[in-house]
Amino acid sequence: MRELIILGTASQVPTRTRNHNGYFLRWDETGFLFDPGEGTQRQMTFAGVAAGDIHRVCVTHFHGDHCFGLPGAFSRLANDRVEHPVHCHFPMSGQPLFDRLCWTWPEYRRRVLREEPAWGERTVLAHESTSDFGRLEAVRLSHGIESYGYRLTEPDGRRMLPDKLAALGVTGPHISELQREGRIELDGETVTLEDVSAPRPGQAFAFVMDTRLCDGVYALADHADMLVIESTFLTEDAPLGAEHGHLTARQAAQVATDCGVRTLVLTHFSQRYSDPAAFEREAREVFDGELYVAEDLMRFPVPKRAH
Ligand SMILES: [Zn+2]
Ligand SMILES: [Zn+2]
Repeated sequence: MRELIILGTASQVPTRTRNHNGYFLRWDETGFLFDPGEGTQRQMTFAGVAAGDIHRVCVTHFHGDHCFGLPGAFSRLANDRVEHPVHCHFPMSGQPLFDRLCWTWPEYRRRVLREEPAWGERTVLAHESTSDFGRLEAVRLSHGIESYGYRLTEPDGRRMLPDKLAALGVTGPHISELQREGRIELDGETVTLEDVSAPRPGQAFAFVMDTRLCDGVYALADHADMLVIESTFLTEDAPLGAEHGHLTARQAAQVATDCGVRTLVLTHFSQRYSDPAAFEREAREVFDGELYVAEDLMRFPVPKRAH
């Protein structure tokens, strides 16, 4: 199961209807908690996300709307006696802040948290050869303080074709042997993996928060099946966005179009706007793929593969 659960959608200040940021990505057996802002612990309860579902925490930067939920999420992990490793990713320059936000439960922190910060222009945080889910990378963005976006990329694989398997008489343990070895001998004939399978392109998920337009935004969004991206402002306030290091809905949607994104999720809205439809109208001017203007507690499936 691959699904994005929206825990919060407000930028600087939460509103009556929008919690601070918070996003949970369920990607098969792995759960990623992105940017837990204030109140994330309670939003998890509303959304039915258990602390034990979290395997990785990814923080883009240490502005409060992206990290004030860390102490609550961390305490919840300890309270619920979650004992599997929880990998924590954040900008390396923010280590002193991470230390303060996770100051309680020092013994639990040492035992469970694996602190693996991002640094430089691009950091590979998990490699496809050693992880269950593929590659996880952090790419530097451009904001008032050091900020990173995240990209999850599943390696390309192959999809077995039942008709071809049946036609060539490949059954049971021979199938897994074929997947493992790439070829098998069957009744004196060689059957290769290519004979009975088709390419299955891996999926990609990108998470882009507080940033102005920069190369990192495009590197993260490149052909993503799902792009979650900040759209703090509308074009009428574009100068504010440029000044404070934020995107407009139109800029975010143009990135999605330029990068061939399939599903676009806009979020991180300034509290100055009361009508979310304005973000949709602006994005629709330049993007014709699947588009969601996020509301708290919405859930979006990662779209099925195109092939
Ligand atoms: Zn923010
Ligand atoms: Zn920020």
